[in-house]
Amino acid sequence: MEEKILVTKSSMPEMGEYVDEIKGVWDRKWLTNAGPLHEKLKEDLKTYLKIDNIDLFVNGHLALIVALKALGKAGEIITTPFTFASTTNAIIDSGYTPVFCDINEENYTIDAEKIEDLITDKTVAIMPVHVYGSVCDVEKIEKIAKKHNLSIIYDAAHCFGVNYKGKSIANYGDISMFSFHATKVFNTIEGGSLTINGNNELQEKIKILRNFGLNNDDIEQCGTNAKMNEFQAAMGICNLRHIDDEIKKRKNVSDLYDKLLSKIHGIKYLRFDKNIKRNYAYYPILIDEKICGFNRNELAEKLAENNIFSRKYFYPITNQFSLYKKYYKKYPTPIAKKISENILCLPIYADLEFDDVYRICDIIKNLKKKGK
Ligand SMILES: *Cc1c(COP(=O)(O)O)cnc(C)c1O
Repeated sequence: MEEKILVTKSSMPEMGEYVDEIKGVWDRKWLTNAGPLHEKLKEDLKTYLKIDNIDLFVNGHLALIVALKALGKAGEIITTPFTFASTTNAIIDSGYTPVFCDINEENYTIDAEKIEDLITDKTVAIMPVHVYGSVCDVEKIEKIAKKHNLSIIYDAAHCFGVNYKGKSIANYGDISMFSFHATKVFNTIEGGSLTINGNNELQEKIKILRNFGLNNDDIEQCGTNAKMNEFQAAMGICNLRHIDDEIKKRKNVSDLYDKLLSKIHGIKYLRFDKNIKRNYAYYPILIDEKICGFNRNELAEKLAENNIFSRKYFYPITNQFSLYKKYYKKYPTPIAKKISENILCLPIYADLEFDDVYRICDIIKNLKKKGK
């Protein structure tokens, strides 16, 4: 049996490179709270992303929670259920009510045409998700938010390194969150960031809320502890040196999938607008059971029989979790539901062998033959 192929594999530098980076920590005995490696990573990221501010967090989820708390409001947030549990949990955990908007069938992000119908006098923000590194209709969302005086917080967890119209995706909306989790394109083991656009007051508030809400020995708003430590920052500094190469290797894998799968009728892969510089974070395919003669679950099982582990991502959509089911009744999202039942993320990472990509596509092709 061939070696196990998982849906992803974390990027890591050579061990020696990491060891060199952390040596100074033993001299300084400064482990967390904005240490020198933390500060260096911040500067490196600003340079790499060509943005003027970024704040680092222990993980992306707490970054989202801090961003939501920093709005300092209460009420409804328009979001989508076609995402990882984190997005919806963060909304609930910081005391807001999620209002689910359906997604579009082209790139699975929020259907901007449907946002305005969901706005009420309780709406305070829109929280769309740039899923799989796809880009939401940022222009239209911006227009709607301006018209109704709403904040925009992008869950850009999947989007590190993605540019839209020549600028980092973090330049859009009021706040964007990148996740630096081990499974993301760029990782700091666990980690995340917020970029805040043109609002110094909000930026200050976020720094305070990340550190328990402490400000000059006082607390005005309850915060949390979400600081990134020096060992995480060291991993980030190393991984950032290799990021362009990592993305290029992912591109080669992704291009090969595109080429092979374009010959299999009934399998749809994501298409990207030419204004987008991609990061090749995921490789989702949508299976048309009527054409293929097999469904998503059958394909996942078949791949697993061959020691290849794909991921039903995102399945279920968050408004199908028992805790959030009640929202589906009020705000049904049939397109998101349909997509989540037919989508499968195939393995993709920088070092995935081309032979394995051929093998995976052959399994899909052969299953189709059998299904007929
Ligand atoms: C990974 C992820 C998060 C959470 O990030 P962590 O760094 O794992 O806490 C949030 N939203 C989406 C869509 C994600 O994929």
